[in-house]
Amino acid sequence: MWVLTAEEFIMNEFCPCGTNTVMKTSWTNHNPGRRYIACERFKQINGCNYYFVWIDPPICTRARQIIPGLLRRVNRFEEDLNRFEEDLKKKRNRFMFIIKPYLPNHRDAVMFDV
Ligand SMILES: [Zn+2]
Repeated sequence: MWVLTAEEFIMNEFCPCGTNTVMKTSWTNHNPGRRYIACERFKQINGCNYYFVWIDPPICTRARQIIPGLLRRVNRFEEDLNRFEEDLKKKRNRFMFIIKPYLPNHRDAVMFDV
């Protein structure tokens, strides 16, 4: 039974190896969104495995099935949004390149660059 919340959890400031500990969130398919505290060097090459503690309780089976799919969708939307913003930026620059000679001065050109 899990009785501690993240706010109640007292984390060790230092790992036994002397390095700081950090709170992170797991995004593996088995533990999506589950927070833990570990040595700052955890999972690094020649890293440290002395300190690792889960903060959140285990993820239920249903959430474990759903969260990775939702995360993939969010990532896909963010990628689409980044592509859209880059495309919009290129089109805006092209528009300004075309229209700039017809503007009386640069200040007016800035007005169009929204
Ligand atoms: Zn350590």
